[in-house]
Amino acid sequence: MIWNEEAECMSRDDLEELQLKRLQDVVKRAYENVPYYRKKFKDMGLSPEDIQSLEDIEKLPFTTKDDLRQVYPFGMFAVPRREIIEIHTSSGTTGKPVVSGYTKQDIELWSEVMARGLTMMGINEEDIIQNTHGYGLFTGGFGVHYGAQKLGATVIPISTGQTRRQIEIMDDFGTSVMIFTPSYGLYLSEVAEEEGFDAKNSQLKAIGFGAEMWTNEMRQEIEKRFGAPAFNMYGLTEIIGPGVAVECKEQDGLHVAEDHFYPEIIDSETTKKLGAGDTGELVLTTLSRVGMPIIRFRTKDITALRYDGCECGRTLVKMDRITGRSDDMLKVRGVAVFPSQIEKALLKIDGVEPHYQIIVTRPQRLDELEVQVETSPQLFSDEIKEMVGIKKKIESYIENEIGLRVNVTLVEPKSLPRSEGKAVRVIDKRNLH
Ligand code: ZN
Repeated sequence: MIWNEEAECMSRDDLEELQLKRLQDVVKRAYENVPYYRKKFKDMGLSPEDIQSLEDIEKLPFTTKDDLRQVYPFGMFAVPRREIIEIHTSSGTTGKPVVSGYTKQDIELWSEVMARGLTMMGINEEDIIQNTHGYGLFTGGFGVHYGAQKLGATVIPISTGQTRRQIEIMDDFGTSVMIFTPSYGLYLSEVAEEEGFDAKNSQLKAIGFGAEMWTNEMRQEIEKRFGAPAFNMYGLTEIIGPGVAVECKEQDGLHVAEDHFYPEIIDSETTKKLGAGDTGELVLTTLSRVGMPIIRFRTKDITALRYDGCECGRTLVKMDRITGRSDDMLKVRGVAVFPSQIEKALLKIDGVEPHYQIIVTRPQRLDELEVQVETSPQLFSDEIKEMVGIKKKIESYIENEIGLRVNVTLVEPKSLPRSEGKAVRVIDKRNLH
Protein backbone atom coordinates (compact mmCIF):
# COMPACT_ATOMS: atom_id res chain seq x y z
CA MET A 1 0.00 0.00 0.00
CA ILE A 2 1.43 3.36 -0.96
CA TRP A 3 -0.41 5.96 1.01
CA ASN A 4 1.87 8.91 1.54
CA GLU A 5 -0.09 10.22 4.49
CA GLU A 6 2.13 13.21 5.02
CA ALA A 7 1.55 14.41 1.47
CA GLU A 8 -2.01 13.27 0.97
CA CYS A 9 -3.52 14.43 4.25
CA MET A 10 -1.64 17.68 4.75
CA SER A 11 -3.42 20.76 6.05
CA ARG A 12 -4.23 23.35 3.39
CA ASP A 13 -1.80 25.85 4.94
CA ASP A 14 1.11 23.43 4.98
CA LEU A 15 0.30 22.28 1.47
CA GLU A 16 0.20 25.85 0.14
CA GLU A 17 3.52 26.60 1.78
CA LEU A 18 5.04 23.56 0.09
CA GLN A 19 3.43 24.44 -3.24
CA LEU A 20 4.79 27.98 -3.14
CA LYS A 21 8.30 26.81 -2.36
CA ARG A 22 8.16 24.30 -5.20
CA LEU A 23 6.57 26.81 -7.60
CA GLN A 24 9.34 29.34 -6.97
CA ASP A 25 11.86 26.61 -7.56
CA VAL A 26 10.32 25.33 -10.78
CA VAL A 27 9.98 28.85 -12.19
CA LYS A 28 13.62 29.53 -11.43
CA ARG A 29 14.71 26.28 -13.06
CA ALA A 30 12.61 26.94 -16.15
CA TYR A 31 13.99 30.47 -16.42
CA GLU A 32 17.59 29.41 -16.02
CA ASN A 33 17.60 26.22 -18.06
CA VAL A 34 14.93 26.48 -20.75
CA PRO A 35 15.64 29.25 -23.27
CA TYR A 36 12.05 29.10 -24.51
CA TYR A 37 10.69 30.00 -21.07
CA ARG A 38 13.41 32.58 -20.45
CA LYS A 39 12.46 34.40 -23.63
CA LYS A 40 8.74 34.24 -22.78
CA PHE A 41 9.37 35.62 -19.29
CA LYS A 42 11.62 38.39 -20.60
CA ASP A 43 9.06 39.38 -23.23
CA MET A 44 6.56 39.82 -20.39
CA GLY A 45 9.05 41.67 -18.19
CA LEU A 46 8.96 38.85 -15.63
CA SER A 47 11.70 37.44 -13.47
CA PRO A 48 11.52 34.46 -11.08
CA GLU A 49 11.61 36.85 -8.11
CA ASP A 50 8.16 38.12 -9.10
CA ILE A 51 6.61 34.94 -7.69
CA GLN A 52 6.07 35.79 -4.02
CA SER A 53 2.72 34.09 -3.43
CA LEU A 54 0.68 31.31 -5.01
CA GLU A 55 -1.63 33.95 -6.50
CA ASP A 56 1.36 35.28 -8.42
CA ILE A 57 1.10 32.21 -10.65
CA GLU A 58 -1.38 34.26 -12.67
CA LYS A 59 1.49 36.50 -13.77
CA LEU A 60 3.10 33.54 -15.53
CA PRO A 61 2.52 32.74 -19.19
CA PHE A 62 0.47 29.74 -20.27
CA THR A 63 2.08 26.83 -22.09
CA THR A 64 0.08 25.29 -24.95
CA LYS A 65 0.53 22.21 -27.10
CA ASP A 66 1.68 24.55 -29.86
CA ASP A 67 4.45 25.91 -27.63
CA LEU A 68 5.61 22.38 -26.98
CA ARG A 69 5.56 21.59 -30.70
CA GLN A 70 7.61 24.66 -31.51
CA VAL A 71 10.51 23.41 -29.42
CA TYR A 72 10.27 19.87 -30.85
CA PRO A 73 11.97 17.60 -30.00
CA PHE A 74 14.06 18.46 -26.92
CA GLY A 75 13.67 22.20 -26.45
CA MET A 76 11.74 21.94 -23.19
CA PHE A 77 14.34 19.84 -21.40
CA ALA A 78 15.81 21.61 -18.39
CA VAL A 79 18.67 19.15 -17.95
CA PRO A 80 21.40 17.87 -20.32
CA ARG A 81 19.93 15.21 -22.62
CA ARG A 82 22.07 12.45 -21.10
CA GLU A 83 20.16 12.87 -17.82
CA ILE A 84 16.91 12.02 -19.57
CA ILE A 85 16.43 8.26 -19.19
CA GLU A 86 13.09 7.86 -20.93
CA ILE A 87 11.09 9.62 -23.60
CA HIS A 88 7.38 9.47 -24.40
CA THR A 89 5.32 11.38 -26.90
CA SER A 90 1.68 12.33 -27.17
CA SER A 91 -0.18 11.01 -30.20
CA GLY A 92 0.48 13.45 -32.98
CA THR A 93 -2.69 13.31 -35.03
CA THR A 94 -1.89 16.72 -36.50
CA GLY A 95 1.68 17.91 -36.91
CA LYS A 96 4.58 16.90 -34.72
CA PRO A 97 3.90 15.07 -31.47
CA VAL A 98 4.75 16.55 -28.08
CA VAL A 99 7.88 15.05 -26.53
CA SER A 100 8.05 14.36 -22.82
CA GLY A 101 11.42 13.62 -21.19
CA TYR A 102 11.98 11.99 -17.79
CA THR A 103 15.01 11.90 -15.52
CA LYS A 104 15.48 9.04 -13.08
CA GLN A 105 13.91 11.19 -10.38
CA ASP A 106 10.91 11.93 -12.65
CA ILE A 107 10.27 8.22 -13.21
CA GLU A 108 10.38 7.80 -9.43
CA LEU A 109 7.86 10.64 -9.04
CA TRP A 110 5.61 9.15 -11.73
CA SER A 111 5.73 5.72 -10.04
CA GLU A 112 4.87 7.25 -6.68
CA VAL A 113 1.84 9.25 -7.83
CA MET A 114 0.48 6.31 -9.80
CA ALA A 115 1.07 3.92 -6.87
CA ARG A 116 -0.77 6.33 -4.58
CA GLY A 117 -3.58 6.38 -7.14
CA LEU A 118 -3.86 2.58 -7.27
CA THR A 119 -3.93 2.57 -3.47
CA MET A 120 -6.80 5.06 -3.52
CA MET A 121 -8.72 2.57 -5.66
CA GLY A 122 -8.22 -0.08 -2.96
CA ILE A 123 -5.52 -2.00 -4.83
CA ASN A 124 -2.60 -3.51 -2.93
CA GLU A 125 0.38 -5.83 -3.29
CA GLU A 126 -1.90 -8.90 -3.35
CA ASP A 127 -3.53 -7.84 -6.59
CA ILE A 128 -3.02 -9.03 -10.15
CA ILE A 129 -3.32 -6.07 -12.49
CA GLN A 130 -4.07 -6.69 -16.17
CA ASN A 131 -2.91 -3.57 -17.93
CA THR A 132 -4.53 -3.24 -21.37
CA HIS A 133 -3.10 0.23 -21.98
CA GLY A 134 -0.63 0.33 -24.83
CA TYR A 135 3.05 0.03 -23.94
CA GLY A 136 5.10 2.32 -26.08
CA LEU A 137 5.40 6.02 -26.65
CA PHE A 138 1.91 6.51 -25.17
CA THR A 139 2.25 7.09 -21.40
CA GLY A 140 -0.79 5.00 -20.42
CA GLY A 141 0.89 1.59 -20.37
CA PHE A 142 4.13 2.49 -18.62
CA GLY A 143 2.49 4.86 -16.13
CA VAL A 144 0.23 2.14 -14.76
CA HIS A 145 3.10 -0.35 -14.94
CA TYR A 146 5.49 1.78 -12.87
CA GLY A 147 2.78 2.48 -10.30
CA ALA A 148 1.87 -1.21 -10.02
CA GLN A 149 5.51 -2.20 -9.54
CA LYS A 150 6.10 0.49 -6.96
CA LEU A 151 3.06 -0.82 -5.15
CA GLY A 152 4.38 -4.36 -5.33
CA ALA A 153 1.34 -5.75 -7.14
CA THR A 154 1.64 -8.35 -9.91
CA VAL A 155 1.31 -6.64 -13.24
CA ILE A 156 0.40 -8.37 -16.51
CA PRO A 157 1.74 -6.08 -19.26
CA ILE A 158 -0.58 -7.49 -21.92
CA SER A 159 -1.05 -4.11 -23.62
CA THR A 160 -3.85 -3.33 -26.07
CA GLY A 161 -5.46 -5.83 -28.41
CA GLN A 162 -5.58 -9.64 -28.57
CA THR A 163 -9.01 -9.41 -27.05
CA ARG A 164 -9.71 -13.14 -26.85
CA ARG A 165 -6.33 -13.65 -25.21
CA GLN A 166 -7.24 -10.95 -22.69
CA ILE A 167 -10.30 -12.93 -21.65
CA GLU A 168 -8.35 -16.17 -21.44
CA ILE A 169 -5.72 -14.53 -19.20
CA MET A 170 -8.35 -12.91 -16.99
CA ASP A 171 -9.79 -16.35 -16.46
CA ASP A 172 -6.56 -18.37 -16.12
CA PHE A 173 -4.55 -15.91 -14.03
CA GLY A 174 -7.41 -14.72 -11.82
CA THR A 175 -6.99 -11.07 -12.71
CA SER A 176 -8.26 -8.87 -9.87
CA VAL A 177 -7.81 -5.47 -11.49
CA MET A 178 -8.45 -4.49 -15.10
CA ILE A 179 -7.11 -1.26 -16.56
CA PHE A 180 -8.83 -0.19 -19.78
CA THR A 181 -10.48 2.68 -21.61
CA PRO A 182 -14.27 2.53 -21.14
CA SER A 183 -14.86 1.85 -24.84
CA TYR A 184 -12.37 -1.02 -24.84
CA GLY A 185 -13.99 -2.30 -21.66
CA LEU A 186 -17.33 -2.51 -23.41
CA TYR A 187 -15.78 -4.38 -26.29
CA LEU A 188 -14.04 -6.77 -23.90
CA SER A 189 -17.33 -7.49 -22.16
CA GLU A 190 -18.95 -8.40 -25.48
CA VAL A 191 -16.13 -10.76 -26.38
CA ALA A 192 -16.26 -12.25 -22.87
CA GLU A 193 -19.92 -12.99 -23.40
CA GLU A 194 -19.24 -14.64 -26.78
CA GLU A 195 -16.52 -16.74 -25.19
CA GLY A 196 -18.83 -17.79 -22.38
CA PHE A 197 -16.70 -16.10 -19.72
CA ASP A 198 -18.75 -14.69 -16.87
CA ALA A 199 -16.90 -11.45 -16.07
CA LYS A 200 -19.49 -10.59 -13.41
CA ASN A 201 -18.52 -13.56 -11.30
CA SER A 202 -14.77 -13.43 -11.89
CA GLN A 203 -12.00 -12.53 -9.42
CA LEU A 204 -12.23 -8.91 -10.51
CA LYS A 205 -12.43 -6.39 -7.68
CA ALA A 206 -11.59 -3.07 -9.34
CA ILE A 207 -11.35 -1.42 -12.72
CA GLY A 208 -9.20 1.57 -13.62
CA PHE A 209 -10.49 3.79 -16.42
CA GLY A 210 -7.97 5.78 -18.30
CA ALA A 211 -7.39 7.94 -21.32
CA GLU A 212 -10.95 8.57 -22.35
CA MET A 213 -13.98 10.59 -21.33
CA TRP A 214 -17.05 8.82 -20.08
CA THR A 215 -20.40 9.51 -18.49
CA ASN A 216 -21.70 8.19 -15.19
CA GLU A 217 -24.15 6.05 -17.13
CA MET A 218 -21.21 4.46 -18.95
CA ARG A 219 -19.53 3.75 -15.63
CA GLN A 220 -22.66 2.04 -14.32
CA GLU A 221 -22.92 -0.05 -17.46
CA ILE A 222 -19.28 -1.22 -17.18
CA GLU A 223 -19.65 -1.92 -13.46
CA LYS A 224 -22.74 -3.98 -14.17
CA ARG A 225 -21.02 -6.00 -16.89
CA PHE A 226 -17.88 -6.69 -14.84
CA GLY A 227 -19.38 -6.76 -11.36
CA ALA A 228 -16.66 -4.47 -9.96
CA PRO A 229 -16.35 -0.76 -9.19
CA ALA A 230 -14.63 1.40 -11.81
CA PHE A 231 -12.36 4.30 -10.90
CA ASN A 232 -11.20 7.20 -12.94
CA MET A 233 -7.52 7.85 -13.59
CA TYR A 234 -6.33 11.06 -15.15
CA GLY A 235 -3.08 12.23 -16.59
CA LEU A 236 -1.44 13.57 -19.68
CA THR A 237 1.88 13.10 -21.41
CA GLU A 238 2.76 16.79 -21.33
CA ILE A 239 2.60 16.79 -17.51
CA ILE A 240 3.83 13.26 -16.74
CA GLY A 241 1.24 10.64 -17.76
CA PRO A 242 -1.45 8.84 -15.73
CA GLY A 243 -1.33 9.53 -12.00
CA VAL A 244 -1.86 13.29 -12.04
CA ALA A 245 -5.28 12.65 -10.46
CA VAL A 246 -7.05 9.44 -9.45
CA GLU A 247 -10.42 8.68 -7.93
CA CYS A 248 -10.64 7.28 -4.41
CA LYS A 249 -13.13 4.68 -3.16
CA GLU A 250 -15.77 7.36 -2.64
CA GLN A 251 -16.08 7.56 -6.47
CA ASP A 252 -16.84 11.23 -6.16
CA GLY A 253 -14.08 13.05 -8.00
CA LEU A 254 -10.35 12.55 -8.50
CA HIS A 255 -7.74 13.62 -5.94
CA VAL A 256 -5.10 15.71 -7.72
CA ALA A 257 -1.54 14.99 -6.52
CA GLU A 258 -1.31 18.66 -5.59
CA ASP A 259 2.06 18.40 -3.93
CA HIS A 260 3.48 17.71 -7.40
CA PHE A 261 1.00 19.27 -9.83
CA TYR A 262 -0.64 22.62 -9.25
CA PRO A 263 -4.16 22.83 -10.71
CA GLU A 264 -6.09 25.93 -11.80
CA ILE A 265 -9.37 26.38 -13.64
CA ILE A 266 -9.67 29.12 -16.24
CA ASP A 267 -12.31 30.40 -18.59
CA SER A 268 -11.19 29.05 -22.00
CA GLU A 269 -12.25 32.17 -23.86
CA THR A 270 -11.02 34.95 -21.54
CA THR A 271 -8.25 32.87 -19.85
CA LYS A 272 -9.31 34.46 -16.55
CA LYS A 273 -8.88 32.31 -13.46
CA LEU A 274 -12.14 30.88 -12.06
CA GLY A 275 -13.05 30.07 -8.45
CA ALA A 276 -13.53 26.79 -6.58
CA GLY A 277 -16.44 24.80 -7.95
CA ASP A 278 -16.59 26.71 -11.26
CA THR A 279 -16.45 24.67 -14.43
CA GLY A 280 -13.76 25.58 -16.92
CA GLU A 281 -10.50 24.50 -18.50
CA LEU A 282 -7.93 22.75 -16.34
CA VAL A 283 -4.46 24.29 -16.26
CA LEU A 284 -1.58 22.38 -14.67
CA THR A 285 1.92 23.32 -13.51
CA THR A 286 4.49 20.66 -12.62
CA LEU A 287 5.93 21.51 -9.21
CA SER A 288 8.68 18.95 -8.87
CA ARG A 289 9.43 17.48 -12.26
CA VAL A 290 13.13 17.84 -13.05
CA GLY A 291 13.66 16.93 -16.71
CA MET A 292 10.88 18.99 -18.19
CA PRO A 293 9.22 21.62 -16.01
CA ILE A 294 5.90 22.75 -17.49
CA ILE A 295 4.30 26.00 -16.44
CA ARG A 296 0.55 26.59 -16.67
CA PHE A 297 -0.18 23.98 -19.32
CA ARG A 298 -3.60 24.43 -20.91
CA THR A 299 -5.04 20.92 -20.93
CA LYS A 300 -8.28 21.82 -22.80
CA ASP A 301 -10.04 19.40 -20.45
CA ILE A 302 -13.22 20.76 -18.92
CA THR A 303 -13.71 20.16 -15.19
CA ALA A 304 -14.09 21.85 -11.78
CA LEU A 305 -12.08 21.72 -8.54
CA ARG A 306 -13.66 21.10 -5.14
CA TYR A 307 -11.81 21.84 -1.91
CA ASP A 308 -14.42 20.54 0.53
CA GLY A 309 -12.57 17.49 1.86
CA CYS A 310 -13.28 13.80 1.43
CA GLU A 311 -14.57 10.88 3.44
CA CYS A 312 -11.41 8.92 2.64
CA GLY A 313 -9.31 11.29 4.76
CA ARG A 314 -7.24 12.79 1.98
CA THR A 315 -7.12 16.56 1.90
CA LEU A 316 -5.98 16.82 -1.71
CA VAL A 317 -8.37 18.79 -3.90
CA LYS A 318 -10.93 16.82 -5.89
CA MET A 319 -11.38 17.31 -9.58
CA ASP A 320 -14.65 16.40 -11.28
CA ARG A 321 -14.66 13.76 -13.96
CA ILE A 322 -13.70 15.42 -17.28
CA THR A 323 -16.96 16.32 -18.98
CA GLY A 324 -15.56 17.54 -22.27
CA ARG A 325 -12.65 18.99 -24.11
CA SER A 326 -12.67 22.54 -25.21
CA ASP A 327 -11.47 21.29 -28.61
CA ASP A 328 -13.80 18.26 -28.75
CA MET A 329 -16.76 20.50 -28.48
CA LEU A 330 -18.72 20.45 -31.66
CA LYS A 331 -20.41 23.64 -32.75
CA VAL A 332 -23.48 22.53 -34.59
CA ARG A 333 -25.66 25.34 -35.89
CA GLY A 334 -23.95 27.51 -33.29
CA VAL A 335 -24.88 25.20 -30.41
CA ALA A 336 -22.14 23.59 -28.31
CA VAL A 337 -22.45 19.79 -28.36
CA PHE A 338 -20.27 17.32 -26.49
CA PRO A 339 -20.21 13.64 -27.48
CA SER A 340 -20.71 12.84 -23.79
CA GLN A 341 -24.22 14.34 -23.94
CA ILE A 342 -25.23 11.95 -26.71
CA GLU A 343 -23.80 9.03 -24.74
CA LYS A 344 -25.76 10.08 -21.68
CA ALA A 345 -29.01 10.10 -23.65
CA LEU A 346 -28.33 6.68 -25.19
CA LEU A 347 -27.62 5.01 -21.89
CA LYS A 348 -31.06 5.98 -20.64
CA ILE A 349 -32.77 3.81 -23.23
CA ASP A 350 -33.19 0.06 -22.91
CA GLY A 351 -32.23 -2.05 -25.87
CA VAL A 352 -29.69 0.43 -27.16
CA GLU A 353 -25.97 -0.22 -27.00
CA PRO A 354 -23.61 2.59 -25.98
CA HIS A 355 -21.80 2.20 -29.28
CA TYR A 356 -22.40 5.22 -31.43
CA GLN A 357 -20.88 7.53 -33.94
CA ILE A 358 -21.76 11.14 -34.56
CA ILE A 359 -21.60 12.37 -38.12
CA VAL A 360 -21.80 16.06 -38.84
CA THR A 361 -22.44 17.24 -42.37
CA ARG A 362 -23.36 20.47 -44.04
CA PRO A 363 -25.35 19.43 -47.11
CA GLN A 364 -26.26 23.00 -47.98
CA ARG A 365 -25.91 25.80 -45.52
CA LEU A 366 -27.20 24.18 -42.39
CA ASP A 367 -25.33 21.68 -40.27
CA GLU A 368 -26.94 18.29 -39.91
CA LEU A 369 -26.28 15.86 -37.14
CA GLU A 370 -26.63 12.15 -37.68
CA VAL A 371 -26.12 9.72 -34.86
CA GLN A 372 -25.57 6.09 -35.75
CA VAL A 373 -26.57 3.85 -32.90
CA GLU A 374 -26.29 0.12 -32.46
CA THR A 375 -29.31 -1.74 -31.24
CA SER A 376 -29.06 -4.82 -29.10
CA PRO A 377 -29.45 -8.15 -30.90
CA GLN A 378 -32.83 -8.70 -29.17
CA LEU A 379 -34.17 -5.46 -30.51
CA PHE A 380 -32.74 -5.68 -33.98
CA SER A 381 -35.71 -7.12 -35.77
CA ASP A 382 -37.55 -6.80 -39.00
CA GLU A 383 -40.48 -5.25 -37.23
CA ILE A 384 -40.32 -1.90 -38.97
CA LYS A 385 -42.89 -0.41 -36.62
CA GLU A 386 -40.85 -1.21 -33.56
CA MET A 387 -37.66 0.13 -35.09
CA VAL A 388 -39.33 3.38 -36.06
CA GLY A 389 -40.58 3.72 -32.50
CA ILE A 390 -37.16 3.27 -30.96
CA LYS A 391 -35.55 5.60 -33.48
CA LYS A 392 -38.05 8.32 -32.55
CA LYS A 393 -37.44 7.72 -28.87
CA ILE A 394 -33.66 8.07 -29.21
CA GLU A 395 -34.08 11.22 -31.27
CA SER A 396 -36.25 12.81 -28.63
CA TYR A 397 -33.89 11.82 -25.77
CA ILE A 398 -30.92 13.32 -27.61
CA GLU A 399 -32.87 16.43 -28.50
CA ASN A 400 -33.71 16.82 -24.82
CA GLU A 401 -30.05 16.59 -23.91
CA ILE A 402 -28.51 18.88 -26.52
CA GLY A 403 -31.38 21.07 -27.67
CA LEU A 404 -30.98 20.19 -31.34
CA ARG A 405 -32.89 17.95 -33.69
CA VAL A 406 -30.86 14.98 -34.86
CA ASN A 407 -31.37 12.17 -37.28
CA VAL A 408 -30.81 8.77 -35.73
CA THR A 409 -29.87 5.78 -37.84
CA LEU A 410 -30.15 2.40 -36.19
CA VAL A 411 -27.42 0.04 -37.28
CA GLU A 412 -26.96 -3.68 -36.79
CA PRO A 413 -25.46 -4.97 -33.56
CA LYS A 414 -21.64 -4.92 -33.63
CA SER A 415 -21.46 -3.08 -36.96
CA LEU A 416 -19.71 0.10 -35.79
CA PRO A 417 -15.92 -0.02 -35.61
CA ARG A 418 -14.59 -1.23 -32.27
CA SER A 419 -11.71 0.59 -30.74
CA GLU A 420 -8.84 -0.90 -28.78
CA GLY A 421 -7.77 2.52 -27.60
CA LYS A 422 -9.66 5.75 -27.69
CA ALA A 423 -12.93 5.46 -29.57
CA VAL A 424 -13.58 7.68 -32.57
CA ARG A 425 -16.93 9.22 -31.73
CA VAL A 426 -17.18 12.10 -34.13
CA ILE A 427 -16.81 12.25 -37.86
CA ASP A 428 -16.98 15.84 -39.01
CA LYS A 429 -17.53 16.05 -42.75
CA ARG A 430 -18.02 19.80 -42.91
CA ASN A 431 -14.46 20.73 -43.95
CA LEU A 432 -14.35 23.62 -41.58
CA HIS A 433 -10.59 24.06 -41.69
ZN1 ZN B 1 -11.13 10.71 -1.24
